[in-house]
Amino acid sequence: MIIVGAGIVGTSAAFHLTRRGVSTALVDAAHLGQATAAGLGVVFPWPLPWDEQPVWDFKARAAEHYPRLMAELAEDGHTTGYEVVGGLSVDLEGDDAGFDLLRTLSQRPEFATMGGVERLSPGRPRERFPLLPEDYGGVFVEGMARLNAPVARAALFNAAEERGLRYFKGDAHLLWNGHRVTGVRVGSEDLEAPVVIVAAGAWSAGLLAVAGVDLHVHPVRGQVTHFALPGRDTRTWPVVRFGERGYFVSAFGPDRVVTGGTWEPEAGFDRRVTAAGLLHNLSTALDVLPGLEDATVVETRVGFRPGTHDGQQLLGTIERLPGVVVASGLGGDGLTFGPFQGVVAARLALGEDPGMDLSPFRPDREMAPA
Ligand SMILES: Cc1cc2nc3c(=O)[nH]c(=O)nc-3n(C[C@H](O)[C@H](O)[C@H](O)COP(=O)(O)OP(=O)(O)OC[C@H]3O[C@@H](n4cnc5c(N)ncnc54)[C@H](O)[C@@H]3O)c2cc1C
Repeated sequence: MIIVGAGIVGTSAAFHLTRRGVSTALVDAAHLGQATAAGLGVVFPWPLPWDEQPVWDFKARAAEHYPRLMAELAEDGHTTGYEVVGGLSVDLEGDDAGFDLLRTLSQRPEFATMGGVERLSPGRPRERFPLLPEDYGGVFVEGMARLNAPVARAALFNAAEERGLRYFKGDAHLLWNGHRVTGVRVGSEDLEAPVVIVAAGAWSAGLLAVAGVDLHVHPVRGQVTHFALPGRDTRTWPVVRFGERGYFVSAFGPDRVVTGGTWEPEAGFDRRVTAAGLLHNLSTALDVLPGLEDATVVETRVGFRPGTHDGQQLLGTIERLPGVVVASGLGGDGLTFGPFQGVVAARLALGEDPGMDLSPFRPDREMAPA
């Protein structure tokens, strides 16, 4: 098999194929702006009540798969970057933290990974995330996790390489014989395989355009700012969601706090840190966490989320393009669902029944711009 793209999706597919003993090549252009390298790392794999059944099923399977995959990598001796630190949903009024929703969900047996869900009175969230202002109340979800995505990506890649993965650095172009895709060209080299998995994130449309297929995935630029708090140990701090804003903050050891991320669908593949992006990140961060005032601004990362107009992923084969499986379009949720999307793509490439309804995710479905 050939996989194009070594983000979280492509490396997961590579791990899954190589552990099944399948001869696999992974091609990656290492674009600056890879979403996986920029992501905030909030892992929330549970469905919402209004999700359609196939989406619900996919998320339920992904939620169950995540800890198993990470445990397997850890047993294999890899540092995974995955930590179940819990998650806080906080707000000032007591309305937006979502206690009832989260509690109901956590009581279903298939979402046992959520663990306990506890309501916290004002002042208590601060005991877990010391930068929070005193007046925030909220909800604590025990099983929520954060992912240091570059570390997880490296773990998947290394585990696959140990099982025989061949890696090619370069820009892949599909090879098309008039009937089917037969492989890819990288530089002057032609690689052939029965199936090519296109896991090229926001760049996936460009690959298929060569074969005349209009894939509806576009880049949604995100700029995310990292702060350091010298002398503070942030390793055990939970992920925080500010209910009234839908805004997220994540902490990474030894002393980092990472906030938000802009959502810029108009920016194309422009990978600059912009004045407006930085202003947005700094002002929002200080607004919700005034305690960051004296923090060091370490860096701002830029990444391109693979967005779709209907907000659903692209996962499956394309009738008029035999020889290709598409796995992309996870937008702002790819660190959460990407590992499982990679597994399903691998199964499809092997001709196996994924055991769930993937029709809402058909890569060639019609989509009108929102
Ligand atoms: C600022 C920001 C914050 C985010 N926060 C979260 C979060 O908290 N939680 C969450 O779940 N998700 C989050 N996401 C979303 C998540 O990061 C992405 O959905 C996910 O990483 C997409 O992974 P991918 O493997 O599909 O694509 P990518 O990680 O973008 O990887 C695609 C790879 O394909 C390669 N490629 C492209 N074209 C070619 C070609 N022709 N030949 C060879 N290689 C090619 C690229 O170089 C790249 O390495 C965030 C994203 C951003 C940008």
